[in-house]
Formats: sequence, structure tokens, C-alpha cells
Amino acid sequence: MTQTSFDDTRSAPAAAEALDRAHAAAVDWLTRMPERGIPATTGVAETQSRLGLELPTDPEPPGDVIDALIRAVEPGLMASQSPRFFGWVMGGTLPASLAADWLVSAWDQNAGMREVTTGVVAAEDLAGRWLCELLGLDPACDVGFTTGATMANLTGLAAARTRVLRDAGWDADERGLAGGPPIRFLAGAERHGSVDLAARLLGLGAAELIDADDQGRIRPDLLAEALAGRSGPTILALQAGNVHSGAFDPFAECVAVAHDAGAWVHVDGAFGLWAGASPRSRHLMRGAEDADSWATDAHKTLNVPYDCGVAIVRDRVSLRQAMGTHASYLTATTTADADPHERVPEMSRRARGVPVWAALRSLGTSGVAALMDRLTRSAQLLADGVTAVPGLQVLNDVVFTQVCVAASTDEATRALGELLRADGVAFASSSEWHGRAVLRFSVSNAGTDDEAVAESLAALRRAAERIGEQ
Ligand SMILES: *Cc1c(COP(=O)(O)O)cnc(C)c1O
Repeated sequence: MTQTSFDDTRSAPAAAEALDRAHAAAVDWLTRMPERGIPATTGVAETQSRLGLELPTDPEPPGDVIDALIRAVEPGLMASQSPRFFGWVMGGTLPASLAADWLVSAWDQNAGMREVTTGVVAAEDLAGRWLCELLGLDPACDVGFTTGATMANLTGLAAARTRVLRDAGWDADERGLAGGPPIRFLAGAERHGSVDLAARLLGLGAAELIDADDQGRIRPDLLAEALAGRSGPTILALQAGNVHSGAFDPFAECVAVAHDAGAWVHVDGAFGLWAGASPRSRHLMRGAEDADSWATDAHKTLNVPYDCGVAIVRDRVSLRQAMGTHASYLTATTTADADPHERVPEMSRRARGVPVWAALRSLGTSGVAALMDRLTRSAQLLADGVTAVPGLQVLNDVVFTQVCVAASTDEATRALGELLRADGVAFASSSEWHGRAVLRFSVSNAGTDDEAVAESLAALRRAAERIGEQ
């Protein structure tokens, strides 16, 4: 056997061979998805020994590397694109967005600079404008494509920090935070942990928490009380889509009272912002369009592959001041439009907005609405079916994609989750909500239909019948 040279690893035929093998494996992965058991069947250590623990000394043909990767890793993959997968909040992949994502890697464009990689910047800019239109937000907002909603939250809150301090006469981007006016950072008691993380990274500290109601919605009366008679730099984080209940904060009341107090309002809508894309669920977002910044994910509800989050900010100047670098070695932009890198934390990055463009082009507004309606209908069907299982109850008002299930005791609920996941047909996450163990279903996959719901309910009934037997 002839030895592979360094040049052999990077030749055009070698690239084609590796891509062909990846293509075949990807099609096989997706085609057999509906019949796959959901949990990974090998652990990390076993997968690593299959991959080979030793760093190789010599080059190997790329196609062989891809074969080895597929063989070793596939048993360790979780079938999270299964139509019966309801874990965490995870979407699948729409064909157009997946294929576009492959091209993004093949094209390998650095999407940070408008005048240089014009092709992908054009598609991303359109995707950003279409997103705003679809979600009922001002299309003149600045849109940045981030790795996920965590970084989109960070981006929105960074713009907020810049703005509220500037309004108080303090340039934080020049002078830092120390010595400046303190910022009051308010959030609902059931905000997502990524909001806390973003606040920590930004030096905002722990949020002052406003109590929530039984569905996890921030209480506007308590918010009004907290804001009454106070002034100074203030940021409020609201939520569109509580991970347990799917509930939406009462935006109209909260935004009004916060704006009266001069606060910046940010909305974490990682999956919930998409309610705005269908006439049937749009009412949940009422008033959210008046906020100042929004974070969402394309890799959850829109079913774009990881990683793809979206930061949307109305005040472009504050966003660009917070995120821009204005480094002299970069080509100065000649247009009035920002370089994409001025809207997100990263400078160099993949053109992750292109798969969003492809998803929106593929679905159109009616297709996105149909996707949202399918998800909410499936969640409702699932909840109705759960209620019919003796001993199980649904704890939340099912308004969007989330269904929180409990058995008669915490112990039984935990066992229910373990039995369901071990059965392999359907998957939901064990969690805790309002001091109780829960089994949480998040309907986020475009492939989940009535049949998948029925099969999942059958699996849940099997698990419920076996509680106590183990
Ligand atoms: C998932 C989620 C996030 C974090 O998003 P990532 O894409 O994981 O960074 C933030 N908020 C809510 C409500 C979420 O569901």
C-alpha cells in the first residue's frame, strides 16, 4: 500500500471522495431517522476507543477518515431529529436549510465584512429583513446571526447596557463599568438561565427578580411596583416562551410600564418569538413588537441546523457601538450599512444566516405559519392524550409547544421519564417545575405529525403502566 502524502489529503479528487461518503451517510442518517431508537447507544469512552485514542503520525486519505468517523460516532448519536423526539427544546433540520448549511462550509466565506463576501452577506441581510417581517418586528431593526439565543441575549443586552449608560451620561465602552452609574437589571423569576449568563458576562450581576404567576409569566403589577418612583439606567428582560409552560409574558403591559420608567426592554424569545409567524398564535406576542431588542433561535423552532441564533436590535447605533470594533486594519465600509461583524460578538464567522434564508425561501410565510400551527396542534394533541392516561396529568396551560407532565408522585414522574427514554420510541426531558418533578415535552420538530404523537402517547402509556414494577 502506498503511503498517503500531505498533498494527497488535500487534492480535489480526495475532497470529492470524502464529500461523497459524507453525503451518502447523511442521506442514510436522515432517511432512517423515523425508525431509529432515540438515545445514543454508546458512551463517550467507548466511542473514543472506536475512534482511536492515539494522535496519528501519518496522513490518511480523507475518505477513509470520514468512514472511520461515521462508523465510530453513529452509535453515539442521539436521534434528535426523530418526529418523536421532545427533549429540551431542539428542532430538526429542514432539507433546504441543511443543504444550504453544507454549502456554507464548502464556500467557507468569512461573513463578517459586507464589501468582501457580498454573496453571503446579501442572503443574510435578506434573511434578517424577512425574519423581522415574519415575526412582526420593525424591518429596519439591525439583525445579527449568532451561535444561539444565549449569544443573541448577550448581544441585545450589550446594546442595552451601552444605551442606558449613555443616556445617563456615561460612555461604558470608553470608560468601563467601574465608577459609572449602577444599572438595575430586572427579569422574571422564570427567566431562562442564559439570560443570567449574559448578564454575568456583561457585568450586570444577578437580576432583580420579579415574581411570576402559575404559568411562569412575570407579574405586571409587581413589575410596576418595582419600577414606580425609580429612575436611572434600567434594563428589563422579558420572555416569549417559558421552557416549562410555553407561556408568554404579558408584553403590552410590561413594555409600557418599563418604557414609562425609561427602561430598555429585551425579549428572550429563543423559541417563542416564532409564535408571531402564524395568525393563530400571533396573539401571544402582542405588545412584544414594542420592545427594544429580541433574541431568538433558528436552530429550534425554524428547524435550521445548529448553530444559528438571531439577535434583533432596534437601536442600531447602540448595537454597533457595543459590538463594532472599528479596528483600523479592516477595510472601511463604504456604504451606510453596517458590516455584519458590527452586529454580533464574533468578527470572523461562518455565514450561518444563509440556511435561514434557505428555510424561509423554502417555506414561505404560509409554510412557516403551517409549521407553527403543526407544532402547537401536536402539543395540544399530546396534552389531550396525556390527560387520558390514568395517573398522569398536564401541569401547564398548553398555549404553544411545551407540555409539562407529572405522575402522582415525584418518584413516579422520574421513573416515567426513565422508562420512556429506555423504551427508545419517544423522548422527553425530566426536569423540575414549581418544586415538582416533571416530564417535559417540547414539540419543536417539523416532522412531528399526528401519527408521531399517537406513537409517542402509546410509548408513554407503556411507561406509565410499568411505573412501580422496576
Ligand atoms: C434554548 C433557550 C435559550 C438559549 O438558547 P441557545 O440556543 O441554547 O443558546 C434561551 N432562552 C430560552 C427560553 C431557551 O429556550
